Amino acid sequence: MEKKIALVTGANRGIGFEVARQLAAADFHVILAARDKTKGKEAARKIQADDMVLDVTSYESIANLAKEVKNKYGGLDVLVNNAGVMMGESKKMTQVTKEEIEQSVCTNALGPLFMTNALLDSLNPHAQVVMVSSGFGEMCVGFSSYAPLYSATKTFLNAITRHLAQALQSKSVYVNAVCPGWVRTDMGGKHASRSVKKGTETIVWLAKGKAGDVSGKFFRDQKEISW
Ligand code: NAP
Repeated sequence: MEKKIALVTGANRGIGFEVARQLAAADFHVILAARDKTKGKEAARKIQADDMVLDVTSYESIANLAKEVKNKYGGLDVLVNNAGVMMGESKKMTQVTKEEIEQSVCTNALGPLFMTNALLDSLNPHAQVVMVSSGFGEMCVGFSSYAPLYSATKTFLNAITRHLAQALQSKSVYVNAVCPGWVRTDMGGKHASRSVKKGTETIVWLAKGKAGDVSGKFFRDQKEISW
């Protein structure tokens, strides 16, 4: 049987790398996308993945990658939109700079939308698109004052997830969001409560199609949570 093909963004370190590692170990053909060519190559070498250069804030970079994916692989079974930044963490919404706003929105929300749309023709039937979101994006429960700009970009990403899920229903492409919990990475810091392995569990579970044909949902610990 041919290997399933999975692409993970921001996969040179942190959650993205661990997702790529686990999918490669589960016999997926993994494309590890990173914005720094050298770091991407080095990370891909460790897990025997292919590497591609991708800056999710550059539409040109996204379009180049989409073209390369189509030419080289034909189709994709999994797209994990993982790349993310947290900027202006301790600032109120009135204090964040124009640069912080643009970089955060472009990376955390528009990047996953542009990536999914650019790769539409390459997404095989029953492909899984996983958006790495955050509980800080929730609006119904647990609304917090922490990192307002970051939180708002994840709320935007959650809305994008639901609309993409609806738009891709007829193509049988499934789009879901995941909160990994508070994870010990460069972003989460060393005091975070979860290991990287624990933080990636639900992402990998969705990527492997273990949740079935579910789409337009938000998950933590393999359970649906509220938006
Ligand atoms: P991390 O260790 O800081 O890694 C972030 C990754 O995103 C790096 O590979 C980074 O690449 C990449 N990246 C940033 N901007 C990019 C861009 N413009 N184009 C391409 N790649 C870019 O963070 P993490 O904890 O693994 O976070 C991964 C995802 O999980 C993020 O979406 C984050 O919001 C989410 N999340 C994390 C936590 C947590 O507690 N850690 C909790 C909830 C959600 P460089 O190495 O080049 O900078």
